[in-house]
This record gives sequence, C-alpha cells and structure tokens, in this order.
Amino acid sequence: MKIITTITEMQDHSDRLRHQGDRIGFVPTMGFLHEGHLSLMRRAREENQALVVSIFVNPTQFGPDEDYDTYPRDLEKDASLCREVGCDVLFTPGVDEMYPQSSVTTVSVAGMTETLCGASRPGHFDGVTTVVCKLFNIVRPHAAYFGLKDYQQYRVLFQMVQDLNMNIHIIGLPTIREEDGLAMSSRNAYLYDDERSGALTLSRSLDAAREMVREGIRDPRAIEQKVTGIIESEPTTRIDYVSVVDADDLTPLSTIDERALLALAVFVGDARLIDNAVLEINGN
Ligand code: AMP
Repeated sequence: MKIITTITEMQDHSDRLRHQGDRIGFVPTMGFLHEGHLSLMRRAREENQALVVSIFVNPTQFGPDEDYDTYPRDLEKDASLCREVGCDVLFTPGVDEMYPQSSVTTVSVAGMTETLCGASRPGHFDGVTTVVCKLFNIVRPHAAYFGLKDYQQYRVLFQMVQDLNMNIHIIGLPTIREEDGLAMSSRNAYLYDDERSGALTLSRSLDAAREMVREGIRDPRAIEQKVTGIIESEPTTRIDYVSVVDADDLTPLSTIDERALLALAVFVGDARLIDNAVLEINGN
C-alpha cells in the first residue's frame, strides 16, 4: 500500500491509474477506522481495480466549540487496517496542504443543508462539500462510497455531484452496528461505560418507530414524541433533534405516505451521536 501525503503526487498517481484503464473506488474518512469504514472499503475493493482511502480530519466542518482538537486519531492502526482490506493508496494530506492561506472558495449546497445537522452545526455542510469536492478533484475516483449513518451528508453529496455534473457514482451503504445496536462511530470512543445505556436509546428508539409504522401509525409527530420519550428516559442523554422528514429532500412531513427519514442527534456525555432509520410503509 502506498501512503501519499501531497496533492500533486496523488493526482499524478490517479492519472496513471486512469491512463492504464483502472477504475478507482474512493472512501473518504476522518480516520480512527472501525467496521463501518471497513465495510465501505471492502465494497469499494470488490467493485474497482484500485482502492483509494483518505484520512483527513477536516477542520472546516467543525464548529468553533466542537471537538476538532480532541477528535480521536490513530494513523498507525488505521494504516494497518487499510492494508488488511487491500487498500492500494492511503491519502493523508496535512491541513496546510489542503487549505493553503490563498484558498478562498467554498462549495455550498442550498436547502437541504439547513435542516437537521445543518441547523445545529452552522457551516458544517459547507465544510463537508468543499473538502469532498477537493478530494474528488485530487483522487479523481469513478465511484465514491459513503455510509448511510450520515444520511444527510450522503444526500447532500449526491446533490452536489448531480448539480456540478461530476462524473462520479455516489454509493450509499448501510449502517454497521455493534452487537447491542449502537451505530459504530469514531465518536463512540468518547463514551464512558455508564453512558452506554444512554447511547443505546438511539437504536432502541429507531426500532420502536419502525414498529409504530408497522402498526399503521402515519403521524410524524406521534413518532417523534415516542422516540423523544425513549431517549429522555435515560439521564445521560440530551436531545439535539428528533425529526421525521421527507427521505429525499429532507423537508418536514405532515404525514408518512411512502418513505420518511427519522433522524436523531443526541448528546450522550461529551459525545454528539447521530443515527437514523428510513421508515417505509411497505416493508419498513
Ligand atoms: P467519518 O470518518 O466519520 O467521516 O466517516 C467516513 C465514512 O464512513 C462516511 O461515509 C460515514 O458515513 C461512514 N461511516 C461512519 N460510520 C459508519 C457506520 N457505522 N456504518 C457505515 N458507514 C459508516
């Protein structure tokens, strides 16, 4: 596995791969890799001749009071996991390499970035779209793989690629969970043992919501209320938002017709955890 830290070397390498006809699969990450990341990498490995993984903790997607400085990092372990999965290139640029002082351009997707995580983390999605757009221009992948755990991020990036006519397949893959249901996340490292039961209310409340839809309940507010009750039953939790929205454009819904997204963001101790479920009337 090649480890590349500069943009020009990465671009040259991708040019060579494309020139020899290789299809490039790309998995952008912020590192501290877990099974969720590895599932994306394995799929990308299967579907492409070359697998590029990036690890870059992107400062522009963190707010001033967020956890950029303390975000968990372990490059050595990450590199060995990437090797095990059969990654060809690990791209790990530094912050100065990605954001020279001269850089003044932002990529911004309107509308769907203003709700859910966008409402509580102003500027977050501009940071995400800008860095992913840059990474796409550097790695020049044919296909890029994202987790549906970050459903809004996936949806926003899908929109960006469509709107800017980027010739890249955006592939969204299911959330990988711990055995007890907790969605895997690098931020789970922040959880103390006694916070674990608080964290489990997220997946438990998603199950309860699916059950309500199965029972014929179509009122988004009733589902939000039930979910809120389950999460608030644990003293270690503090809800950021609980929202049932349209699964395509993420706008509020007055009733669930076919497909809705139930999205949650909850603070458990110092960790801000997110999770979601797509609620489908036929076979949720
Ligand atoms: P991150 O390192 O948190 O920026 O995540 C990098 C990629 O891994 C994103 O596309 C995430 O959606 C995805 N990802 C994170 N956690 C999971 C998970 N539990 N299951 C599937 N994909 C995930």
